[in-house]
Parts: sequence; structure tokens; C-alpha cells
Amino acid sequence: MIDCTKYQPICNHFSPYFDQKFWVWRKRKCHYILRVIVSYADGRDIVLFQIAGELPGMMTVNASDIATHLRQQISSGRFAAQDRLPPERVLAEQYGVARGTVRQALRQLEQSQFVERRPGSGTYVTFSDGEAERPISEITRPRELVDARFAVEPQMCRLAVLHATAAELDSLRAHFERMEGCEHDSATFADVDEEFHMAIARCTQNPMILWMMRQIHETRSHAQWGRMRELTLNPEIIRVYNQQHRQIIDSIAQRDPEGAADAMKKHLATARQTLVGLAD
Ligand SMILES: [Zn+2]
Repeated sequence: MIDCTKYQPICNHFSPYFDQKFWVWRKRKCHYILRVIVSYADGRDIVLFQIAGELPGMMTVNASDIATHLRQQISSGRFAAQDRLPPERVLAEQYGVARGTVRQALRQLEQSQFVERRPGSGTYVTFSDGEAERPISEITRPRELVDARFAVEPQMCRLAVLHATAAELDSLRAHFERMEGCEHDSATFADVDEEFHMAIARCTQNPMILWMMRQIHETRSHAQWGRMRELTLNPEIIRVYNQQHRQIIDSIAQRDPEGAADAMKKHLATARQTLVGLAD
């Protein structure tokens, strides 16, 4: 089989935006190498012949070409979500076209939901790749989860001190008593531990904190963490966690915001040591 599409241009110093499709937009002519390659079924590629030369004529670039090229740049990550594209004037110069042509290309990109045009501000990338759309629980590593908990949970404890009702404190104690009976039942301990931390979140009366803790909770519940828990939770570490839970509850009940935050930091530091030591 002869594959004539494998030509390889050599003039990519003409423009930082160079690729196969745009090898002649600025100087209107350029050097090229055309290779005809034979691809064998066993995977070998043999160059049958190649010719080199200079393209003499002009190649016109239209709005669709520019839209396609920008789409490739966005998909390949050269422009990330929320990045601002260069201004129309700059794009027009880069592609060697009138500004109207660039505007048309940007309209096409907007229709295919790759960008959003904000009047007076510019054109912003709205497309994001699959990685960003994957559930957060799948792309978060243990160290990242613990770091996120450090960012949220000490402050959550301070707010719980300020806002917890008597009934909510009773609920915290009830969770704690259940955990105390779980030294030899790591699965139940893990479940009740999560409920305990969610119960502290509810004490804050802050819907945003509660939402963030739900994300954390969901990530902790994800399948990949199950195995991790099995390996880290033993009676000894559960005992340590429970002592720390007691310090957290006592500080919240005594209305000691910094004491509660410090107790939570110690608890998370222990979690980091056990989890991250295992995972990284
Ligand atoms: Zn805990």
C-alpha cells in the first residue's frame, strides 16, 4: 500500500502556529519535502522516494481552515479551558487574512462550543478535554484528597464551634460512640467516620462547606479507596483515630475554635501519614 499522505514539511520556523495544513500561509511559498512511504503489514515504513522543492503559488486560507486549525490547537491542549485566544488583529496577521475572516472562524468555533466570545473582553476557550469531565473521585490521588481535607476541615471545625446546636453535638457524640465500638470492624468504622465528618460539616450551617464535604465524602467512598482502607485500618490506628475524634468533639463542645481546628489538623496529619505512606 502506498500512503501519499505522509509528507513532512520542513519550514516550521515560519510561524509558531505551523502545522501540515498551514505550511504556506505567511511567506506564501515554502520549502517542502514530499515523501511516498510504503507501509508493510508488519509495521515497517519504507520511504519509496522523496522530492523536495518550493511551493510557488499562494494558498488561500479561509475561515473554515482557521476554525479547524484553532480547534486542533484547543483539542491538543495548546489553549486550555478559560484561556483567552489572541485578539482578532493578531490572528488575522498570523493567518495572513482579513479580520472579517478571523471573525467568521471564531463564529464557527463558538457554534461548535469550543469558545465563547465576550464583548469587550475577547474570545475564551470553553472546550475542555475528557480528563476534566471525568468524575473527581477518579482523578484525585490520596495525597490530593488529604490536602483538600486540610484546606477545608480545620476551618469547618472552627465554624462548628460557632454554630453547632445542642442536638448536633449529641449527634456527634452518638457517631463517636459507634466508632468506639468498631476497633475490630474497619469497614463499619470507615463508614461511621465519614458520617462523623459530615456531621461536623452540618454543624457549620454553611451549605458551601457541606457541598465541599460531600465531594470529599464521595471521593472517599469511591471503589479505589476501599482497598486502601483495608490496608491502613487496623485496631491500633482506629484507636488513635478515636482518641483524635474525642479531642475534636471535646473542643467543639467546649466552644474552643482553635483547639478544635488543631485537633482536626492532627487527625488529618495521621491520616496523611498512613494513607500517603501506603499509596505513593
Ligand atoms: Zn475521622
